[in-house]
Amino acid sequence: MIIPENVKTSSVQDCLGKSSELLIKLSKDFDIKDYPVDAPLKKKEYIKSTLEYDPFRIFVGEDYGGYGGDIKESLSLLSLASYHSLQLTLVYGINWALFIQPLQKYGTDIAKEEILNKVSYEKKIGGLMITEPDYGSDALNMKTNFSKVENGYHIEGQKHWGGLSGIADYWVLTCRENKGEGKLSRDIGFFINDNNATEQRIKTTQYYNTGGLEIITYGLNQLDIIVPEHYRFTNPMTGIKMMLDCLHRSRIQFSGMGMGYMKRLLEEAINHCEERKVGNKKLIEYDKVKERLVTIQSAFTINSAMCHYASKTTQLEKDLSGLGLEANCVKSLLTDLMQESAQSLVQLKGGNGYNKDNIAGRAIMDSRPFQIFEGSNDILYIQIGEAIIKKMQKGKFDNFRALMSDIYPYMNFEPCIELLNQVKIPEKADQQKVHSLGEIFASIFSLDLLGSLSSAGYNQDLIMQANLFIVKRIKGLITKIRCVLTPELLQDFSLDSDWTKMSD
Ligand SMILES: Cc1cc2nc3c(=O)[nH]c(=O)nc-3n(C[C@H](O)[C@H](O)[C@H](O)COP(=O)(O)OP(=O)(O)OC[C@H]3O[C@@H](n4cnc5c(N)ncnc54)[C@H](O)[C@@H]3O)c2cc1C
Repeated sequence: MIIPENVKTSSVQDCLGKSSELLIKLSKDFDIKDYPVDAPLKKKEYIKSTLEYDPFRIFVGEDYGGYGGDIKESLSLLSLASYHSLQLTLVYGINWALFIQPLQKYGTDIAKEEILNKVSYEKKIGGLMITEPDYGSDALNMKTNFSKVENGYHIEGQKHWGGLSGIADYWVLTCRENKGEGKLSRDIGFFINDNNATEQRIKTTQYYNTGGLEIITYGLNQLDIIVPEHYRFTNPMTGIKMMLDCLHRSRIQFSGMGMGYMKRLLEEAINHCEERKVGNKKLIEYDKVKERLVTIQSAFTINSAMCHYASKTTQLEKDLSGLGLEANCVKSLLTDLMQESAQSLVQLKGGNGYNKDNIAGRAIMDSRPFQIFEGSNDILYIQIGEAIIKKMQKGKFDNFRALMSDIYPYMNFEPCIELLNQVKIPEKADQQKVHSLGEIFASIFSLDLLGSLSSAGYNQDLIMQANLFIVKRIKGLITKIRCVLTPELLQDFSLDSDWTKMSD
């Protein structure tokens, strides 16, 4: 590898420091209302302007011109970006978890040498395409397919919603092998393409007009491309396991994208409530206001515990394909807290909170899709609930508390242990309650993470506050799971449902 002469930084700290100064300067431009939906190149230019100091070198291994890809340092970069902009951190998160890490772990040596050096020094960006118009949550049934041809692989199909559609230089692609006569393999194949090479170019035929995250281009993409043989990912496991390993790592690393954002929301909220007076009293003196501030502050601490966990768990050499339960807990609870914190901040800011041109106003719409992509939270909670029921049956546990004591023998937070006796295990077919069970377990899981953060020396008052916040949350969920009232859906609601036709 040849290191260019004009490298801009000499260490991770130098790179983080210079990038931080740059983001402060650029942050006044983070309102992108001037970029229409079909101005992808303007958006690309803007994204590249934030990469002046080649921050993606922090994500890349030393063999390819990077600083090593250390998890803690990489989480710090995501956090730095998210303090200024949630959309920017998502650009960085996509590049780290969905492009660089999968390529570095599963790409061939030739592909890594060729592509990662360009990421390090030429500001090349990438993304991941899994979702298809008819196969989102049901992604394993995807129809995009590949066939071996003389000069590589022919890939054809349709993908949509890939973050950075139309502007990424490289794509990690998933598809199934065409077995002929309309049959596709069950397993998934992973490839990479170079979108700057003519026969590999994916065409974006439509750009989506998203509700938030406008700096990121989304759209509908047509694939009819030929990629060279060495652009197929290799691995000793199945493609589905490879996908799980990548997605679980990414879900746990969401914590980095949440961290700076939570800190910023907390600072904005406390500063605003200290300054704003309503009825001769500072907002911060009102009890209901304090409740909202505690929500954001607890979310900040829980997010910190998740980062601490991610920094110990998600090293590239580890196989995370079996960590579905843990990854689903982190992703679903964190992104729910991100949205709840945004709702609280906007409420506290009153009318001004509804302005789109600062981080508070943007937060609701920008954080909302985090609850949808990489696994819809509804589905993730159901999967967690189902996994817990399975563990109960397999281990022949007759109550929830016994299972929790088995998983977490060291959990000693008394208010929570008392509550565990009240958790009623639902029937597997009762999806609504299985979902609530999933939410309960995600909360208990985060209590365990808080315990580890506490042992590592974190502020004990913040830990206690977050513990109580979680226990209160679990208590509400237990009420939900024990409730026997289930209103039935009426699909045809036209009968006697127009109030204007009712008698006075
Ligand atoms: C901003 C944004 C960024 C994205 N980035 C990417 C990307 O970079 N790459 C990529 O490949 N994709 C990306 N996606 C796509 C995303 O992963 C999918 O939208 C997501 O997986 C859901 O698929 P879908 O939209 O087809 O919804 P559907 O599969 O139709 O699901 C819609 C809803 O139906 C309900 N539902 C579905 N199945 C069940 C079930 N079994 N039980 C109960 N409820 C159920 C859930 O509430 C779910 O949210 C992105 C999407 C958005 C909005």
